[in-house]
Amino acid sequence: MENRILGLHHITAIAGNAQRNYNFYTKVLGLRLVKKTVNFDDPGTYHFYFGDEQGAPGTILTFFPWEGIGQGQTGSGMATSIGYSVPQGSLDFWTERFKKYNVKQESVSQKFGEQYLSFQDPDGLQLDLIVAATHDARKGWGTTEVKTDVATKGFHSITLTLRNVTHTASILTDIFGYKLLKQEGNRYRFITDAIENASIVDMIEAPDLAAGIGAAGTNHHVAFRVRDDNVLMEFREKIASRGLGITPKIDRDYFFSLYFREPGGVLFELATDNPGFTRDEPLNELGTSLKLPKQYEDSRKQIEKTLPVLHD
Ligand code: ZN
Repeated sequence: MENRILGLHHITAIAGNAQRNYNFYTKVLGLRLVKKTVNFDDPGTYHFYFGDEQGAPGTILTFFPWEGIGQGQTGSGMATSIGYSVPQGSLDFWTERFKKYNVKQESVSQKFGEQYLSFQDPDGLQLDLIVAATHDARKGWGTTEVKTDVATKGFHSITLTLRNVTHTASILTDIFGYKLLKQEGNRYRFITDAIENASIVDMIEAPDLAAGIGAAGTNHHVAFRVRDDNVLMEFREKIASRGLGITPKIDRDYFFSLYFREPGGVLFELATDNPGFTRDEPLNELGTSLKLPKQYEDSRKQIEKTLPVLHD
């Protein structure tokens, strides 16, 4: 059981203005900022991690806010919608809340028999709040305005849009252990029974859709969860033996990672549960100070000067 892919680990997207991104996800959506660090490949840029209290795998949405990057375009070969699981009966609260904060939203609709509310963040990133048909026992992070009885519980699913789903589907079924659950028109739902939640990948087949352009408001990559770095390396073998290019193991401080581009064009990552977000600050202080990987600690003063000031 434990040496399987355990659903989604985190999802990473691109934002423009850092303050606007921080405000939206912590205040409007009510997530917890569980880590404030920098892009390890570009330390003049923040890397924000938003999640539940612990930043549990399956709840973590992360952003690189690149000021002035310009608007991206969703399209094929991309993760095009992020689905959060919310409690039954909470969609009225969210509709009202989004109205109050001028969030772009659609009316409540249904797919695969589940009610959902589509909305966009200030950069145009597409998200859904979904009332899961199956039980979701996870407890969301509560804030003064977004109490736990309406709070997001973590991911429900990710939606990938592809010109052709065949090859991506075979990665999910043959290597990751997912199964096709249902099909509705050009939408396919894959699920793993290795974990109870954050276990769904939807795929939309759109043969004529232009390729997406990665910039603000688009997804950067989708990370799947494994228990530890031993399992990570087992999957590295399996993926490499399919002839796909894959990185060596990379230390991301809070997890170990591998990256590969799946045949449909989406950047996939595998990420471990260990060591987690409490490795460099206690649970009650998560996200309160700027954390730097050790290679940048000597340049902290310079980095702090470069990063935009963030107000609570
Ligand atoms: Zn990642």
